[in-house]
Amino acid sequence: MAAQIIDGRAIAADLRRELGPRVAALAARGIRPCLAVVLVGDDPASRVYVRNKVRACAATGVDSRDTVLPAQIGEHELLSTIAGLNRDPTVHGVLVQLPLPPHLDAGHVIESISPGKDVDGFHPSNMGALLAGRPGFVPCTPAGIMVMLERSGVALAGKRAVVIGRSNIVGKPMALLLLQRDATVTICHSKTRDLPALTREADILVAAIGRPRAVGAAMVKPGACVIDVGINRLDDGSLAGDVDTAAVKDVAGWITPVPGGVGPMTVAMLIASCVRAAELAAASEASD
Ligand code: NDP
Repeated sequence: MAAQIIDGRAIAADLRRELGPRVAALAARGIRPCLAVVLVGDDPASRVYVRNKVRACAATGVDSRDTVLPAQIGEHELLSTIAGLNRDPTVHGVLVQLPLPPHLDAGHVIESISPGKDVDGFHPSNMGALLAGRPGFVPCTPAGIMVMLERSGVALAGKRAVVIGRSNIVGKPMALLLLQRDATVTICHSKTRDLPALTREADILVAAIGRPRAVGAAMVKPGACVIDVGINRLDDGSLAGDVDTAAVKDVAGWITPVPGGVGPMTVAMLIASCVRAAELAAASEASD
């Protein structure tokens, strides 16, 4: 039987609708959530991501402010731009679009964002909070995947989960979130031996590799839930995920499409984090 497709666009639209009353409650107090996006250089893919984020903000009643800086900008100048956004009380979320040009240290830049405005959840304070199971901002891609799993009725407690990829923005936080929900989690990477033997044990398989169609049907346990995080641009200009969807959909129980799966959820979770940042800022102002 063909896998059930988990429609990220539809779930993301539900999430944005559900934010409506929260945005309206803030508006009643004279607050409009605002996301500041900083883009360094003119990488075409980054421009597309920033445009999508700005559009999604507008559709949800969230303001956005984008700052485009030249690719040659020095670290000092970039950090002072971020410091200005940190100080600005009308800005609730600050996001620096990655990757940065190689002369800039992404770690320094991320650490300069105020943790309370770090809606991407990449600041070490927020990463530490996730590790310790404390409240904080969670990276949007894995957070969105957890919502997709929940709303699709995929059971996690006691299940075997395999995450391929160990990046700070996807693989590692994904594994921690699955662990929090009582899955038994294995993290795989480029040095993992006999990857297919591990992935075939997975009830939930998350592919965050960055290699088109790297996960084939022989790597998937029948009935598994397969989450495809990959966004790979092929030579003909089309997009492919990290999963060979055409083959895997005949084996898996659930699968996320590319495009229209994890991508829209990432953007929806970003907006949700920005609304939350505005709510937290308003609550802390009220208690001062
Ligand atoms: P990274 O390049 O930071 O990480 C890729 C991971 O895959 C690494 O841990 C790497 O291992 C592992 N890997 C590479 N080759 C293999 C292999 N042959 N076998 C097993 N593991 C392998 O990528 P990201 O985590 O940032 O992104 C992953 C993919 O997800 C990309 O396609 C990206 O575009 C996409 N993405 C999509 C998002 C969305 O919203 N849908 C958001 C963010 C990313 P090692 O650590 O050993 O090098």
